[in-house]
Amino acid sequence: MIKRPKLPLIATISFLVGFLVLLIWFNSVRNVIAEYRIMSITRQAAINNDLLDNLLQAGQNLSFERGRTNVLLNNPESASAQNIEFIMQRRKAVAEFLEQTMHSEQFGLSDEAITLRYDYATLKNLRNDVDKALALPKTKRDPALICRWYDTVTQMLADIGTLALADTIEQTETIGQYTLLNRIKIYAFDFRTTVGTEATRTAEILSANRPMTPEETERLQNLRGQVTAIWKALSRETSLSENTGIKPAMHVVEREIFEIYRPIQNAVLDAIKNGRESPYELQKVLQASVPALDSIGKLLEAITTETRRQILEAQAQARFSFSASIIEAILSLSIGLFALALFITKLLIPLQKISTQLERLSAGNLEVTLEDAQSDRTDEISRTWAALQTFRESLIERQKLEARLRALGNLDGLTDIPNRRALDEALETEWRRERRSNETIGLAMIDVDFFKKYNDRYGHIAGDECLKKVAAALREGAQRAGDFAGRYGGEEFLAILPGLSTREAVAWAERLRTAVEGACIPHEDSQTGCVTVSIGVSSLTPTATGTMLELIRLADEALYRAKANGRNRVEPAPAH
Ligand code: GH3
Ligand code: MG
Ligand code: MG
Repeated sequence: MIKRPKLPLIATISFLVGFLVLLIWFNSVRNVIAEYRIMSITRQAAINNDLLDNLLQAGQNLSFERGRTNVLLNNPESASAQNIEFIMQRRKAVAEFLEQTMHSEQFGLSDEAITLRYDYATLKNLRNDVDKALALPKTKRDPALICRWYDTVTQMLADIGTLALADTIEQTETIGQYTLLNRIKIYAFDFRTTVGTEATRTAEILSANRPMTPEETERLQNLRGQVTAIWKALSRETSLSENTGIKPAMHVVEREIFEIYRPIQNAVLDAIKNGRESPYELQKVLQASVPALDSIGKLLEAITTETRRQILEAQAQARFSFSASIIEAILSLSIGLFALALFITKLLIPLQKISTQLERLSAGNLEVTLEDAQSDRTDEISRTWAALQTFRESLIERQKLEARLRALGNLDGLTDIPNRRALDEALETEWRRERRSNETIGLAMIDVDFFKKYNDRYGHIAGDECLKKVAAALREGAQRAGDFAGRYGGEEFLAILPGLSTREAVAWAERLRTAVEGACIPHEDSQTGCVTVSIGVSSLTPTATGTMLELIRLADEALYRAKANGRNRVEPAPAH
């Protein structure tokens, strides 16, 4: 029966699974690393975003502080408690938002942060002078203070913008529209600062209660140009944003600033420019500027909310992907290890066992038991095992057969004791051994007396039986380890007696002779009435020159003498 090969399939599947799993594993490990990176980026982004918000909030409040202080410094009277309170609240907010940011790990050591810390220290000193001046009427104030105040705060607002920008640039594009949103935020902040500056300037001129100088007019026009330019840029960037919360906030800003506040401002400036009285009082103008500027604050809030939402979303996504990738990596690794284990246990180990057993068998070691029959399998491995078993069994059978054949070839068919060939071989082996050990080797040649007559009287079959009995007696007699007795031919036997001298061999032969005689196989034509044997004994120490034929000849001669001297006796060969 032709069996479909399974091993190529197992090997191919194992290889493909292993390869695939390895690919998946590498990929998931790469993903784990990438997701971990995104996780730390988003974590950092969340921190940065909070810091950025604080920074811009500080800027927003500082902008308010600048405007109101500016106006009050221009005011002829000393500042009212209400206005001082407004300023103090803004200062508190500035401190709250700024201090945390400036000392944060993120900004702490950057050049921009150091500049800002320096700005803030200058501002604090200046505030002392401002507070003193505000308590006095305008005539007693230092006229240069207002300029110093305006320039210092404006510089600080610019530096806040620079620090915010430095933070924004750091960001990567990994997190959705994070970079775009931050850019929008910076523009909005810039817009807030510039609109604030313009408002401050307007209120300042109004409170000075005099016509505008041409320089002042030019500066205001420049500021207005800046406001328009930043608004355009802001609108362009927000149009790129997909967020729905930012656009409505932009509309509110547009209405509050360009539709409500701008006409008031225009009317005021127009009057001042032409030396007419302003249609609105200073307080009214200041009040109108607050919702306008606050609307930008709301826009900043909308952007912040959206940024935070995107960061959180990215964080959640990264966390999910990170966990998924870890699970994927663990799973693929487990499957890979399982496939490997399968490959090793089902293919490699059995193959190795087969090869070991084959090696043992080929080395002629049939004693080992074949473990692991793999009986539950039906593939080439199990078939090889089965074939190996059969092979081993047939080898054992053959070995037994050979042993039997060998034994048969060396045994005498009638008496079942070693035959002439075995005797020759044994004698040769023994001769060589004794020659090495320099020991004597004894030999006894045994011949049944009057055996021809026995045959004649009792028949050949009885003769055969008689030979068997003599052989049995011989076997009994040659019991020492190393003794070797066999049928030499006809009714003659030979006993090889290693280590025995002639005298000892004679004693041995005498025991055998007595045993045969004692068995008393009836033989009417013999002198004693029983079957007897004559034995010739010889012994030699093998030498390089001597041969074993000499030993046989001596025994033969001794036997001859035993016959001649009357039979049923033992004769030794003459001493050598
Ligand atoms: P001696 O006492 O001088 O040894 O007399 P003998 O008759 O034993 O001497 P001989 O050598 O003349 O006779 C040996 C006889 O042994 C001759 C042969 O018929 C007989 N013989 C040899 N082999 C066998 C055998 O296998 N079976 C039987 N039944 N007889 C055998
Ligand atoms: Mg004979
Ligand atoms: Mg004889």
